[in-house]
Amino acid sequence: MPLPQPKRPIKTIAVIGGGTAGWMSAAAISKSFGRNIQVQLVESDEIGLIGVGEATVPHISAFNRLLNIDEAEFVRETQGTFKLGIQFKDWGKIGDSYIHGFGTIGRDLGLMPFHQYWLKARAAGKAKDIGLYSLNTVAAPLGKFMAPPRDAPAHSPLAEIAYAYHFDATLYARFLRKQAEAQGVTRTEGKVVAVTQNSESGFVESVTLESGAAIAADLFIDCTGFRALLIEDTLQAGFEDWTHWLPCDRALAVPCEKVEAPTPYTRSTARKAGWQWRIPLQHRTGNGHVYSSQFMSDSEAADVLLQSLDGRPLADPKAIRFTTGKRRKLWDKNVVAVGLAGGFIEPLESTAIFLIQSGISRLMSLFPHADFEPVLQETYNAQMQFEYERIRDFIILHYHATERSDSEFWNYVRTMPVPSSLKAYMDLFTADGQFFREGTELFGLTSWVQVMLGQGLSPRSYHPAVDWVKDDDMLSLIDHVEKVVASNVALMPRHEDFIARHCAAR
Ligand code: FAD
Repeated sequence: MPLPQPKRPIKTIAVIGGGTAGWMSAAAISKSFGRNIQVQLVESDEIGLIGVGEATVPHISAFNRLLNIDEAEFVRETQGTFKLGIQFKDWGKIGDSYIHGFGTIGRDLGLMPFHQYWLKARAAGKAKDIGLYSLNTVAAPLGKFMAPPRDAPAHSPLAEIAYAYHFDATLYARFLRKQAEAQGVTRTEGKVVAVTQNSESGFVESVTLESGAAIAADLFIDCTGFRALLIEDTLQAGFEDWTHWLPCDRALAVPCEKVEAPTPYTRSTARKAGWQWRIPLQHRTGNGHVYSSQFMSDSEAADVLLQSLDGRPLADPKAIRFTTGKRRKLWDKNVVAVGLAGGFIEPLESTAIFLIQSGISRLMSLFPHADFEPVLQETYNAQMQFEYERIRDFIILHYHATERSDSEFWNYVRTMPVPSSLKAYMDLFTADGQFFREGTELFGLTSWVQVMLGQGLSPRSYHPAVDWVKDDDMLSLIDHVEKVVASNVALMPRHEDFIARHCAAR
């Protein structure tokens, strides 16, 4: 059997673009690979950043841990707040509201997850709203938050609080830049105006800046945002367009004055042709209206947004156009696209920064030698495709599982055919309330169950094993969970007090 032999390693990486994607890539790679690889980053001050992207999912704390980021410093420097979940208003029907909270619902009994017992008890009129059995969904609307205290007893809900952050995207890029530069990343300011490829292989050899300077590297990470300078303009990787399932293609973003203590959750309010976000930061509130230009004009979209701000706007709305979908290949030749250059799914569940994180960590796991074995690229692309598609399905669910019929937009999304993968999940749930998480998909049982119930999907039955548990035992578990959640939430401080004590911006 031949023994593994050393190969020529990659020695230089050029990250093109210095938004969230660029600086997350540069910081993570320089931290993990140390000075074994030289990382250069190019960004153009003239082009600037997209400047939105302020809500996250809990996985970001694993990224911060990789970088040894101190949580209090990170929250302080980015004007951050904490996020227990997302409140969805008017989605299933006008007047409805539910919270997709992070963490778990209830406690399992025997073989089955909690919601299975809840389905039976609810049908008998003996259980309350599912949101009352999860710490996050009880604490969030009460404005309570704390990070798990070190002395919380194991398995108490306080020991397992799952949370993410809201932060100012521009400050976050600045924060990561400081860290990356301290780890040896060099930054060049300038606009890339030309790309040189090898005449035989088509691999990118260098980029040329407006100043005439050329930057060569073994591996290029395309973080140029929607411009997709290397992956599309140069390599023409192709784009899979998902607009027929997710017709929103524009956003208006505007910060406004803060008028109350920051809520520990993001709010998403469904509108006539899309939805509006509200993201509370320490110094201001971020707002945006995501809408479909097929169903609403830009001026109407601006009116909807500006009329529903809870404070005075601090700038003119910024208009952003996008096409939902992803590159057919996120890794092509020696270019890997990370961030908006790779694709975009609207920010309804705050997944774009997660996809940056997962793209970087997958690249580090499948990191090539300078010969770029094709199987690495194929594996990367297949895994990222799966991850994007499952997030896409989860987002489509919010639109499709609705009773709304008050506009052409809602009639379209309610009645459109959905991907077979989503239909299979919905069918499984509406049969016996079941869910199976597949592979590395981002959202698990708690997320899917909360959103499916919140959007009004109603299982016809529950798992047969639920009937093997005595009704009294089942009801006492349900009652116990409600009491434990309520008593633990009572111990939590208010979100603003937690921030003031640990991480208030100066
Ligand atoms: P950008 O921020 O656009 O950065 C691109 C970089 O490339 C810049 O530095 C630019 O100067 C540089 N560049 C471009 N062309 C050149 C060139 N020719 N030469 C040199 N440099 C160049 N994500 C979330 O996780 N949560 C959210 O709540 C969220 N909300 C969003 C709301 C909207 C409306 C949109 C559109 C996106 C949202 N996102 C969200 C996504 C998030 O904003 C992005 O994933 C994230 O900011 C990463 O952007 P980026 O770094 O890929 O691109």
